[in-house]
Amino acid sequence: METDRTDDLVAVASLVRSGQATNRGEISRQLGMRSTTVSDLVGRLIAQEVLHENAARGRGKGRPAAVLSFNQQRLGAVFVTVIDQSLVASAVDLGLRVLGQVTAHPPTHSDTETVARMMHRLVQDTAALFAPQVELAAVVCSMSGLLDAEHKIWCVSARWPELRNLDLGAALGDFGCPVWLIRNLDAELAGLRVIERHHPEENALLLHWGHGIGAAYASGGEVVNRNRGRFCEIGHWGLGNGRGRQCSCGNTDCLETVAGLWAIRPALAREFPGLPHSESGIAAHLARMDLRDSPAIQGALAEVLRLTANLCRLLFPERVILTGPFVQNPDVFARFVQTFDAAPMLRSLDKVRVSVSDNSDLSELSGALSEPMDRALRDLVAGSDQRARSLRAAEG
Ligand SMILES: [Zn+2]
Repeated sequence: METDRTDDLVAVASLVRSGQATNRGEISRQLGMRSTTVSDLVGRLIAQEVLHENAARGRGKGRPAAVLSFNQQRLGAVFVTVIDQSLVASAVDLGLRVLGQVTAHPPTHSDTETVARMMHRLVQDTAALFAPQVELAAVVCSMSGLLDAEHKIWCVSARWPELRNLDLGAALGDFGCPVWLIRNLDAELAGLRVIERHHPEENALLLHWGHGIGAAYASGGEVVNRNRGRFCEIGHWGLGNGRGRQCSCGNTDCLETVAGLWAIRPALAREFPGLPHSESGIAAHLARMDLRDSPAIQGALAEVLRLTANLCRLLFPERVILTGPFVQNPDVFARFVQTFDAAPMLRSLDKVRVSVSDNSDLSELSGALSEPMDRALRDLVAGSDQRARSLRAAEG
């Protein structure tokens, strides 16, 4: 009963939020509800400042229909992500608009405590960017490396090798709102699926080759294992090459030790003087170069392609999206396409669509925030309903 009521409130708010309805009559028609019910629901949402009502200027006779608008600034979230060697926090409203950003630069050899303290300060400074009427509804961390998303623990990061098992739920738990942790590749794939309108049943693989190497996979309409935050960690697949190279995860001879940007950067910098530091800078630098004679790139590429081909035989994706600085180079991209063409065992059936993506910021943000924002809005309207009931009970 109570759930039905909350569902109705969310349905009304969603229609206005998505621009599908701007007055009570349209809501009533689209949801097939009686006008008195709709008026009651809209009244609740206006009282909660989820909806605003503006009197429309009437033409001719009769009372004009009031115009409803959705209050995007009712709730806000702080979204924290990793870009190169920085933590970037954004103040985001319900419309997923970024209202402001703050950046922190934990030094490479920061320990867990230092990163925790810097993140707390970062979230605090970012939350202060919201106007006073915006209620902070979520702190959402979209992190790279290895995570235990269920327990909100950031286990390992290649960018801060001394960080171990940072409990983000505890470190950021005093802002009076839920803390969410999602793997950045899972967030990016979730966002891409919506933005690029993937077919819901399509098996899609997102492969990132940059500072670290990893993948995310969607099947059956879901990003697989996103609630756990661990899947497709091909960067830490063992090569068994017997070189004994230490990886950031604590093991030796993972794929990243021969192909991650963190591992091959010194060799790259020798081959390409003036190599920029950031992934986006490197992407622009390498995009137009002939990399076919580069031992650093070709050696890394061969290993990445070999494991990618095996990954395809495990997951059989119908669509592959490549991200990171290296795949922006046309020759590197072509090598990936050839690998995907050769990988399937039933060629006539499995034709893989391959593309390169570089707008990871927007897709990651929307993929990470849509669920926390929807949940927060639902909690808000459910609370208003409960508050109204108890008020009525008290009055009655
Ligand atoms: Zn590793």
